Amino acid sequence: MATAAVGCAADEGDSDDWDEASDVGEIAVAGRWTPSASASAAGDRQWARYDDAPSWSGGRNCGGGLLAGTRELGDHLQRSFRGVRSYDGYACRANTANTSQMSVHGTGRALDVFIPLIRGQADNTVGDAVANWLIANASSLGVQLVIWDRSTWNASRPAGSKLRAYGGPHPHNDHLHIELNTDGAARRTAWFRDRSVATSPTPAPAPAPAPAPAPAPTPAPAPVTLPRMRVVAGGLNLRRSAGTSGAIITAMPCGAQVTVVGGPVSGWYNVDYNGVRGWASGSYLTPEASYRASVCGS
Ligand SMILES: [Zn+2]
Repeated sequence: MATAAVGCAADEGDSDDWDEASDVGEIAVAGRWTPSASASAAGDRQWARYDDAPSWSGGRNCGGGLLAGTRELGDHLQRSFRGVRSYDGYACRANTANTSQMSVHGTGRALDVFIPLIRGQADNTVGDAVANWLIANASSLGVQLVIWDRSTWNASRPAGSKLRAYGGPHPHNDHLHIELNTDGAARRTAWFRDRSVATSPTPAPAPAPAPAPAPAPTPAPAPVTLPRMRVVAGGLNLRRSAGTSGAIITAMPCGAQVTVVGGPVSGWYNVDYNGVRGWASGSYLTPEASYRASVCGS
């Protein structure tokens, strides 16, 4: 029986105090992680065995550290995806949801990949790119489970039912919890022999050159992924340069769609709004795939 391990190395001691309402601050939440259409379709074609951790016996049978494949995947994610701050994941302890069982963190097969919050919310531009890549390549990696921004994806479930809402005590909006099965952690899966079996990482847009105060900044090349975002605050300013001192070109209504042409630069994106290029704060933008009209009250 495959049981999703709950709780992360960094979660220890968290109580069941997570409340959906507490997540709604100045800016409305744009929903939990939903893979892009292409990642979702690719994820449904993946399958990986779910290997449970052994029973808990006071720590005598913990792994002693991250296993080689786990560390290699962590290094790869940190190198390949802009915005990943750090990772760790070894913790010799019981599973918080089932204390008779060891946490997968105790086996050395689990990673916590940290991504700084934006105003208390998940940075979906960064984290979704990592999560989408993981599920699209789960078979060749040996990834059995991903938890990110209130969703959980389990490679051992049938196509169409791998993704579920995650209701654990920690929303996992500041880190991804990633588990490798025993083959992946031991570097026996295909990706460890040949990286080309996986799709190319599709990181968040690369930073554009620092903008000149005027005239309008030179458009950066269009990024490969997540080119479209939505405004999730009313009257978001489109400015001539990144930062609140940039001259205001216009105000964009909540729900407005923009095309990302550069950035982020210190959290600001160079965007095209109805043919007008300017800069907008990433704190009030969300990837198209994560956008819910309810955020804007409609
Ligand atoms: Zn974890």
